[in-house]
Amino acid sequence: MTDTPKSHGRLSISASLQPRDLMVDRPRLRGAWTARIITLFPEAFPGILGLSLTGRALDQGLWALETIDLRPFGEGKHRNVDDSPAGGGAGMVLRPDVMGAALDQAAIGTPNDRGRWPVVYLSPRGRPFRQDMAHRLAAADGITLICGRFEGLDERVIEEYGVEEVSLGDFVLTGGEIAAQALIDASVRLIPRVLGNQASTEEESFSEGLLEHPQYTRPAVWKGRAVPDILLSGHHAKIATWRRAMAERLTKERRPDLWRAYCERRGRDPDGDAEL
Ligand code: SAH
Repeated sequence: MTDTPKSHGRLSISASLQPRDLMVDRPRLRGAWTARIITLFPEAFPGILGLSLTGRALDQGLWALETIDLRPFGEGKHRNVDDSPAGGGAGMVLRPDVMGAALDQAAIGTPNDRGRWPVVYLSPRGRPFRQDMAHRLAAADGITLICGRFEGLDERVIEEYGVEEVSLGDFVLTGGEIAAQALIDASVRLIPRVLGNQASTEEESFSEGLLEHPQYTRPAVWKGRAVPDILLSGHHAKIATWRRAMAERLTKERRPDLWRAYCERRGRDPDGDAEL
């Protein structure tokens, strides 16, 4: 094994012992977007990301996944990674020295600029993860993700390493691994060529700050419920108008927060019903 990348046309395969590359037998396009994941459960990856569109893109080298097992950085014979919370209380906290060593490992070969390579701790205290953040992350060179466990991470390591906290929503998971997979999935599908049909990311929910209109397919009538006539009319302009109106109505009903922001951007009155 050597550290020099072997070039196979547009593909480059580089061998390294750590971080563990989940794709040693997969090609990787030069400069492919890479997720480095620090976790106590590397076997949880690629998980669902290894299937379907994200899995195929992984196999094609359009993006790459590397896990860094936190355990070997632990202290002593038992490789302890956690300790009891200062000030008392239930649970355990991940030690800053242990996580710091893993982060040093993760930083090897990545840009220091956090804009080009964000370092993210999945955490319920974080900024809510949204589609615009997925776009920002997908546009970076790659990302390092910290999956927490127990009560979470010592605050000092977050400060010291300029770590950004990102939350999947207002609920508490037992660990960051599922959150990491959700964040990676949402980001990877925005990488060019991953979805195949690029248009579908432009029209889907949130792309204009609206929820998506309802979707229908065959059969035209099912259990007495018909697909709206307009969608079968072949009238593309009318279909587009209908879809927009439905998207606006749904957004207004379900997500007043998104609706207000959408109206503000367009100088529209969020309470005016005239256009719906
Ligand atoms: N004591 C913490 C919760 C720890 S849950 C608190 O109250 O804030 C254990 C780990 O699961 C966290 O460190 C984090 O990595 C992950 N996690 C839990 N909920 C999450 C969420 N909503 N979004 C992202 N990560 C989450």
